[in-house]
Amino acid sequence: MPHLVAGDGACCAAVFLPSLGSLHVERVVDGGDGLRIRAHTRTPQVVCPQCTAVSARVHARHERRLHDGVLGGRPVVIDLVVRRFICVNAGCDTVTFTEQVPGLTLPYRRRTVAALGVLEHIAVAVAGRAGARLAGLLGIVVHPSTLIRLIRALPDPVCTQAPEILAKAAAAVVVAGQRRVGRGN
Ligand SMILES: [Zn+2]
Repeated sequence: MPHLVAGDGACCAAVFLPSLGSLHVERVVDGGDGLRIRAHTRTPQVVCPQCTAVSARVHARHERRLHDGVLGGRPVVIDLVVRRFICVNAGCDTVTFTEQVPGLTLPYRRRTVAALGVLEHIAVAVAGRAGARLAGLLGIVVHPSTLIRLIRALPDPVCTQAPEILAKAAAAVVVAGQRRVGRGN
């Protein structure tokens, strides 16, 4: 039985899922074993990701299915209607582009930013099959190879100083060298 949401996007769903705050939530359907939320964007203008020109010229609309995290122990799926805009900058290589929702979507991803964040943490802690099993216990279905791909996609950690253990190892090498020189004398 669909739960129809009235008002201009003021929806109780946005209280539990803040990433929906900028959207118009059309309906929330309790499917028993999961929640299905249908929503659409409502920002009148968006910025071209290539040249940052502001555009309000809508070329087309399409629906994206996004797997979110778990709410009340049940998985959440968001059917999000997004628009493809025409870049108004004649000098831009990007003719059309699909809008993204900050904090919710990433290009070509079928999971929300929040769900990807959870999976990245799981992948770093226990990748592969163990990670997939843990994610499954948390209500997120994921293939082990997906977790491996998430790890590979993570940026390398920035290392501005040698870790303490390396500094100690370098010092030990110097001391050992000095001792060898001493014995040689
Ligand atoms: Zn552009």
